[in-house]
Order: sequence, then structure tokens, then C-alpha cells
Amino acid sequence: MAQESTYKDIAVIGCGAAGGFASILLCKNPLLNVTAFDTNEPFSTLLPTGGGRCNLSYNENDIKEFVKNYPRGEKFLLSVFSKCSPQNTIHLFKDLGIKTYSQEDNRIFPVSDSSKILINDLKKHLQTSNFKYKKEKVIEIYKNENYFQVKTENCIYKFDAVILTTGGKGNGFELARKLSHKISDLKPSLCALNIKEKYFYNLAGISFKNVEISTKTKKNKLPTCYGDILFTHTSISGPCIFKISALTAFEDFDENNPLIINIKLTDYTQEEIENILKKNSKKTIKNVFSEFAPENFINLILKENNISGSKQTAQINKKEKTILINALTNLSLNAVSRVKGSEIVTAGGVELNEINPKTMESKICKGLFFAGEILNIDGFTGGFNLQNCWSTAYIVSSAFN
Ligand SMILES: Cc1cc2nc3c(=O)[nH]c(=O)nc-3n(C[C@H](O)[C@H](O)[C@H](O)COP(=O)(O)OP(=O)(O)OC[C@H]3O[C@@H](n4cnc5c(N)ncnc54)[C@H](O)[C@@H]3O)c2cc1C
Repeated sequence: MAQESTYKDIAVIGCGAAGGFASILLCKNPLLNVTAFDTNEPFSTLLPTGGGRCNLSYNENDIKEFVKNYPRGEKFLLSVFSKCSPQNTIHLFKDLGIKTYSQEDNRIFPVSDSSKILINDLKKHLQTSNFKYKKEKVIEIYKNENYFQVKTENCIYKFDAVILTTGGKGNGFELARKLSHKISDLKPSLCALNIKEKYFYNLAGISFKNVEISTKTKKNKLPTCYGDILFTHTSISGPCIFKISALTAFEDFDENNPLIINIKLTDYTQEEIENILKKNSKKTIKNVFSEFAPENFINLILKENNISGSKQTAQINKKEKTILINALTNLSLNAVSRVKGSEIVTAGGVELNEINPKTMESKICKGLFFAGEILNIDGFTGGFNLQNCWSTAYIVSSAFN
């Protein structure tokens, strides 16, 4: 049976992943009136996710392991996920008639494999009599003694409680700041990195599977990262680079002080490659090295270093051998900047020590709640950012029951 909450009229500011999901769950309680504000259609931010398939979570039962995928927010999320784990979320989706599956790499998608279908399926649950949708931008929120005034470009509305779910872009941080919340520094995360080595621009479109990358910055030695990379016309991209960009989101690097990225493109060690070269002494360099990496890559390294690919491997000199083996086992690239606009999430946000993880309510402004990317929480690629949205949205909605 629906329970009475002290709050009845609730404003949800932003109807993306977190705001939309919270609205669905809140509307299950017929005693609540929920009004969502957004300039876009509900859930439209989900459309490009997971390349149009929406990678909505990651299959890992151990919450302690799961939270390691968040460079910011790890500790806070331990509490959040203990109330609403990824498995609980999958059940919530199932209850909404949305089936999911886990791919070989543990990333979770809707069975439809379509963000578009997922959005339509979610939107159906907003067609309840206690839900209103205002296609308006919220420009100011005032807290009075017992209620909030939500000001849009058109009108001023009155609510008992406000849930801020404006994501990593837009004016949500400003709205929170005006309600006395501290906002940490904001930086782009999960982005491609521009590289200094112009000759690699010729490799645009070439990808490498499961490479190993080690990076050292002035401040920190970063953990070794594993995953796929992709060369683009000015940058390197792909999940493994996104991870590096997340781990270095608050580091400064540029032309004069680049971020040095050492990539191991092959599983073979230097010694193993040398042995293979010895065994294939009659074969051409090009032939043998093309076994380890795409031909375009090998051709590029050969050309850049004036090495003839048609030479037999027996004729290769020491310097040439070192260049070629290093290109495969320790390719050093200089990242000079982040590719503008390529970021998938914003690192930083509403400071977590001002929020109660058991309810997602503000500790300094009663009746104000938060969920999703507006918080100082961000994860790697793989479904972790959306999982933050689902779980924090669930906790907010539970706080009203
Ligand atoms: C291309 C791309 C692909 C991605 N793929 C994945 C993926 O596969 N898996 C994953 O886990 N994560 C992915 N992400 C990240 C994920 O989409 C976000 O972390 C998530 O959408 C954040 O949800 P949110 O509800 O906090 O904010 P959002 O989904 O961004 O929603 C915020 C909403 O608030 C509205 N809004 C903002 N300000 C106001 C205002 N003042 N008044 C009214 N409305 C306002 C906005 O219009 C928006 O609709 C991807 C992101 C991008 C950009």
C-alpha cells in the first residue's frame, strides 16, 4: 500500500536518465504529484549511449569490485549500491517490462539492443495521472520556509521538494550553488586525446584490441590500463584511452608538458619477437611484422624511420630492430590536450559530503535531493555512469515512500 510522505508535490529538474527513472519510480506512489522539467524529450540523453544500444550497466556482483570503476565517488557509491545494487537495478528494469542481457565483456544492454526502443519503453511508464511534464528550462530555485519556488522562463511553480538531476552539462551546478551547495572543479572526462606525433594521423580508423597502457604524470603513477584503442585523424580514442582520460581528468598537460602514454600493442615480449625474427630470417621485415599488427601500422613505422620493408629480417640492423620492436611493445605517444567536445561525462560536481547517501537528500537544504551525473561521481565506460543514475534515482524515490 502506498505510504504518505511529508512531501506531496515534487519537482524533478532534468528528465534524462536519473530524472526520468526517478519520476517513473515516484509515480508508482499515487499519493505523490510529480512534475518533471526539461527542455528536451524525456530520456532523450539516452539516445546516443552505448553507440545507440545503451550500455546500461555492468555485470559484476561484487559491489566492492564494482565501485573500483569510479575514479570519483567510490566510497559514496558503496553505500548507494548497498541499497540498490546493479542486480537490483536489473530487477527494477524487469519489473518495468524491460529485459536486459550481459555481453561477453560483461557490459549490460537492453535485449532490444536499441536506445530508441528503451526510451519508448521507459516513456510509457510516465503516462500516469500523477505525472506532469513541463518543457521548460528552470532558471532559478528559491527555498522558502516550507516550500520551494521553481522559476522557469515562463512561470513560477511551488513544490514541497525538488530533485536536481540536470546531469553534467547546463546550469544545474549553478542552481545547486545558489541553494548553498559546494561544487567541486568540473573537468571533461572519458575523452579522446590529441597527440603530438602527426604521422600517426595517417592511421585514422585503425584500432587495436586489448592493449596495455602505462602512464606517468607529474603527480601520480597511474595504474596500468587494458582495453581497446582507436586512432583518429588527430587523436587516440577508445575505451582504454577514455580510462586514461578519466584518471588524468584533473591533470594539466600540453605541448610543452605532454602526458606520455606508453602502449604495448602486442602480447609478445621483446624476447619472443626477437626469436620469431631469428626463426624467420629469410622472410621480409614487412611480412614478419605484419603478423603482430595491422599492415598500415607497420608500413607507417617503416616509412617514418626509413626502413625498407622488403629487406629480409636477417639483414635488419640493431637500431632498426629496436625501433620496430619498441613500436610494438612500448610505443610512446605524447598526449598534448583533450579533444574538445569529445567528453562523455563531466568529472566533478555537487560535493558528496553534503549529501546523505541513504536518501540522496541535501544535508544543508531540507527537501532538496540529487541524483545522477550532477553529483561529484563519474565512472569509466562500460555502463558505470548510467548505473550511478539508476541507483541514486532509486534511492531518491525510496525517500518519498
Ligand atoms: C555519447 C554518449 C554516450 C554515452 N554512453 C553511455 C553508456 O553507454 N553507458 C553509460 O553508463 N553512460 C553513457 N554515457 C553517459 C551517460 O549518458 C550520462 O552519465 C547520463 O545520461 C547522465 O544522466 P543524468 O540523468 O544525470 O543527466 P542527463 O542524462 O544528461 O540528463 C539531464 C537532463 O537535464 C536537462 N536539464 C539540464 N538543465 C536543465 C534546466 N535548467 N531545466 C530543465 N532541464 C534541464 C537536460 O536537458 C537533460 O535532459 C554516455 C554519454 C554520452 C554523451
